[in-house]
Parts: sequence; C-alpha cells; structure tokens
Amino acid sequence: MQKKYHIIVFGCQMNYADAERVAAVLEKMGYKKTLKLEEAGLVAVIMCSIRQSAVDRIHWLIEKFRKIRNLQPNSYRLQTILTGCILEKDKKVFIEGFDHVIDIKNISQLPKIMNKKSSLHKIDDRPNSATMDYLDIKPKSFSKFSSSVPIMTGCNNFCAYCVVPYTREREISRPASKIINEIKSLVKSGCKEIWLLGQNVNSYKDPKNKTTFAELLKKINKIPGDFWIRYTSSHPKDFKQDVIDAMADLPAKASAKAEGNHITPYLNLPVQSGDDKVLRSMKRWYTIKQYRKIISDLRKKIPNIAISTDIIVGFPGETKTQFNNTVKLFKDIKYDMAYINKYSPRSGTTAAKLKDSVSWPEKKRREKILTDTLRETAFKNNKKLIGKIVKVLIDNKKDDTYFGKTDTYKSIKISTFAKASVDKQKSKTKNKNLIGQFYNVKIIKANNWNLEGKII
Ligand code: SF4
Repeated sequence: MQKKYHIIVFGCQMNYADAERVAAVLEKMGYKKTLKLEEAGLVAVIMCSIRQSAVDRIHWLIEKFRKIRNLQPNSYRLQTILTGCILEKDKKVFIEGFDHVIDIKNISQLPKIMNKKSSLHKIDDRPNSATMDYLDIKPKSFSKFSSSVPIMTGCNNFCAYCVVPYTREREISRPASKIINEIKSLVKSGCKEIWLLGQNVNSYKDPKNKTTFAELLKKINKIPGDFWIRYTSSHPKDFKQDVIDAMADLPAKASAKAEGNHITPYLNLPVQSGDDKVLRSMKRWYTIKQYRKIISDLRKKIPNIAISTDIIVGFPGETKTQFNNTVKLFKDIKYDMAYINKYSPRSGTTAAKLKDSVSWPEKKRREKILTDTLRETAFKNNKKLIGKIVKVLIDNKKDDTYFGKTDTYKSIKISTFAKASVDKQKSKTKNKNLIGQFYNVKIIKANNWNLEGKII
C-alpha cells in the first residue's frame, strides 16, 4: 500500500495549527495525505483535553483502529500516532491504543521515533526541552486563503476549570522576527486571513527584545499586501489600553481593493461569568467592572467592532442570583456572538475538587436563557448593518450560493449580485473561483446568526 496518512484533529485552532506541522513532518517522510481513514497507512490524531467528551472520543477511535486492523492482512498493520493536548495521566492510558504517543513539542523527532524498532508502544518521554522549536517547522497549510500563526504557547493562568496549563505547560512566546517571516511567506502564497494564536496572546512578549503584543500588531501591520489579521485567545486580566490603541490605529480597510492596515474590528474576549464571586472561584483575576471598562473603551475607539465571548454556565456553586448577573452582563454588552458551555468537571483541575452543585437540567436552562438573550442582541446588531457595504472574504460555495465572513467575523450568505453590476460582475467572475477572494458586499438582510448580501 502507498504511504498515505490521515489526520484527525479535535479542539481549538491551536490544535489545527499543530496538525499542519504534523502534516509537514509526515510529508517530508514521504507520506501523502488522504481524506479517507480506510486508505491510510498511518493515522495521526491531534487530541484535545478540554472536555471529558473529547477524551471519550479517543477511546472510540482506538476501537475503530482495532476494527480496521482486524480487517487488514497480517503483513500490513495500520500505524497510529497520538499527539496534541494530552494530560500526563492520559498518555499512560492511551499508549495501549496507539503505536506512539508523542509530545507535540517533539514532533520533529517523529522520523527517529518511528524508525526505532523498539519504539512500538512507546511513550515519547524524553525530557521536554520547553522550547518552541517545533513551531519552526514550515506548516503544510490546510487552506489556501486562511491560516493560523502561533505566536506563543502554554499558559500561566491556571483557571480552575482548565487543563491547558497541565498539557501545554508554561507560556513561551515566539520571537517576533519568526512570526513576521511566517506571515510574509503566507501573504506571498496568497493567504488572505491570518489568525495569531496563543492561549493568552495579550501576555505575548518577544523573548529577546521584549516586543509586546500591541507592538507586534504594529510590526505586522507594516507588511505589504491585502490580508486580514485576527487573533485569539485574549484574557481580560492582560488586555491593556495599548492593544485597544493599536487596534484603533490599524484598522483593516473597508474596501475590497484597499491594501494596508490589516487588523480586523473583531474581538473574542472570554468573560466566563458575569459575577465577581464566581470569577474568583474560577481563578479569573479581573472584575466585571474592569471587563465592562475594556468593552466601553474598545467601542469608543472602534465603533464598528464586533465582540464575542466565552461563558461557562453552572460552575460549581453558581447561584441563580449569580447567574442573573451574567444575564444582565449579556443584556448590557449586547454581544455579537457567544460560545456558551455547560460546566462539566475535568479531572486534574482544581474545580474538579469542588462539588458540581448545579444540576444538568438547570445548566441547560441557564444555557437556553443566555442563548435567547444572545439571539436578540446579535439580531439587533446585525440589523444595523443593512444597507452597508462591507468587505467579505468568501470561503465556501454550495450550488449558486457563496458563503463568507465579514471583517467583523460575521457569517454572510451571498446569493446574488447587485442589479447594477450583474452583467459586469458575472462576466468578471464567470468561470472564476471566488473562494479565497475579497469582495465588497452590500448587506440586504439580517438574520439572528448571519447576514445576507449581494456582491457589488
Ligand atoms: S487563560 Fe485560563 S482558560 Fe485560557 S488556557 Fe489559560 S488556564 Fe485555560
């Protein structure tokens, strides 16, 4: 069988960025990518440990691999690799189901690890050098027009519910020069949307010259070309005025033809709870007053900014009154989007030692209340855009309908061209793949969760 690999990725954008580096290593080893698991001679799984359900999926995959192997001839055996975000205790569990369990930071050593005859059923337990060298691997981009560039990895925050500091260890920032070079190379290859990634990008600091995140944004903004910059994740505790100033000074241009200024007016700022006492119990070291001030300062300086957040409902001990403070915050902030999660304990975290006091039906009820509130605010915000012309990056097509994202990261459906430009645009775009290109789009309709528009 030809050397083919298949990649399965769970979790966040950081895991996808890791997967692109794993793919690059495998292709250098002579493997070719297949989208079909059954065709693969090697499967690499990039694991997420954030929720128990993500861990359960790995058990399900092990069973699936076992069934595939049972159908294969004796002379042939599917190779499997597990990497990504893995707790130490889980490495020991999963080694039973994988040929190799490898720390993502050691992924460049994969050829050596796989060549060792004795490496079957081996955990890669060599000392972790705690460097970010693996990020120097030139990634094999999964998309031609949208990519992620990790600027840091790890986390020092130890939020009570989160395993990331245990799986990715402490924060390490990448040198600004390497980040800039990677972005330049992506832009040169036609990339239009670049996500700067880190568990807490606001605490980014170049290890040598101490460039801050705001300064990094300014440096990136000087790169010529027509592309957008987005970033995630932010922590309110470290979100300072200099980043607001940088975002306000360097906005992405509204027109599809404009170049320069790349920072998009969109921010995901996870609040997690609207109640100070719950925030302290979550070990999130900011107050709601401070959070509100950041949002108000952002909106003063960047009036068209779209804001989303992350929320956990039913954290241990969260009372109805405390939850109502979150509802009030939602109504006041008027979010454009929110990622609402029902709390579930993750072993190894400090919150797992607390009594999971809110029942599942009550968590579901709280989730629904927030979703209903969000639906109203998101719809109202979307309605304000009707009649406006926005720059859109088209990312998909189904039948005659195109889909894309605005600079404010709103989903948009584009079914027709504006009447005045039908002929002009249709002839211009005939036989042309619009996917991965910027277009100016007039908003004609607002829905709860998306917009509709026409290319002009
Ligand atoms: S900031 Fe908190 S939630 Fe985010 S990765 Fe770090 S510990 Fe996890």
